[in-house]
Amino acid sequence: MKKRETITIDGSLGEGGGQVLRSSLALSLVTGKPFRIVNIRAGRKKPGLLRQHLTSVLAATEISGAVCDGAEIGSCELVFRPEEVRPGDYRFAVGTAGSTTLVLQTILPALMLASKPSRLTLEGGTHNPFAPPFDFLFHTFLPQLARFGPKVEAKLIRPGFYPAGGGRMEIEIGAVSSLQPVDLYERGADAGRRVVAHVAALNPEIADRAFERIKKRLGWERSLCEIVEHPAQCGPGFVLVGEVRSAHITESFVGFGEKGVRSEQVADALVDGVRDYLAAVAPVGEFLADQLLLPLALAGGGGFRTIRLSRHARTNIDVIHQFLSTRLEIAGADDRGVEIRAVS
Ligand code: AMP
Repeated sequence: MKKRETITIDGSLGEGGGQVLRSSLALSLVTGKPFRIVNIRAGRKKPGLLRQHLTSVLAATEISGAVCDGAEIGSCELVFRPEEVRPGDYRFAVGTAGSTTLVLQTILPALMLASKPSRLTLEGGTHNPFAPPFDFLFHTFLPQLARFGPKVEAKLIRPGFYPAGGGRMEIEIGAVSSLQPVDLYERGADAGRRVVAHVAALNPEIADRAFERIKKRLGWERSLCEIVEHPAQCGPGFVLVGEVRSAHITESFVGFGEKGVRSEQVADALVDGVRDYLAAVAPVGEFLADQLLLPLALAGGGGFRTIRLSRHARTNIDVIHQFLSTRLEIAGADDRGVEIRAVS
């Protein structure tokens, strides 16, 4: 077999977070190109691999029979050499409240482009600060991904909140041979709004207080708001998810409850996200933008408009450019947002 050149990634570049590692793993699995990453998460308070990143590394290793050096907690350097990706039935447990959706982000691209479907059981956190909550995955990310071709179904078996974790989700991944280009430049007609409050082992009255606040600041009626009470053993947990639905996209905004943070403040975080989005016209919000870059690049054509390009997204573009020949170009930036196009 032809020996492939090892790509070197500097994990401290740009944003310097876990995304650099996860995107490198995802792209290495898809392309078969080995890589070495140094300065892993150098931009973070606790640099190196945390439990969630290690689980991502181990999951990537398992699905591809990779040879991997440096896969341990705290490690700041890693060498990853994938073999062939093996679709199948896998279970990965983060073991803490670490985010399961971020583990999924790492292995999903390769599994959706594999020769057969796969089924994943992921255990850990499902509603974590600084990660896509399950609702975002379900209502925002996966419907957009489906437009590129892959049908991926996600089921929340039980939520895992920070800091207890213990959540579980099941993912069915339909495989496709390639991704088709998608254009996502407009939201389309307004298709409604919705708020869900996930509550576990806490008085559901906190959700009512949050809904009051949302009504006061956004004018969204109580009839748009729903409380989903989870079994007490899943708690304590309180997460608000607000959806802005349009014909071509549903964007999701979150407020995370925390000990000592008032319910109204949790609502305020959601409201700020929603207001920011409603004040703009571009369809793709800041978080979805960095998550759509990889499918966009793999499709090799198409594009989207986002309200702004975060440092996260710019870093992700740099990593993608190290693995793929497709270029992600900023095709325009004006009061309608920033337009990104894939050019191959
Ligand atoms: P990192 O901070 O490098 O570990 O990456 C965090 C990832 O989680 C990025 O892909 C973000 O887009 C995503 N993310 C963080 N917060 C949210 C949120 N509130 N909603 C959706 N995705 C999020």
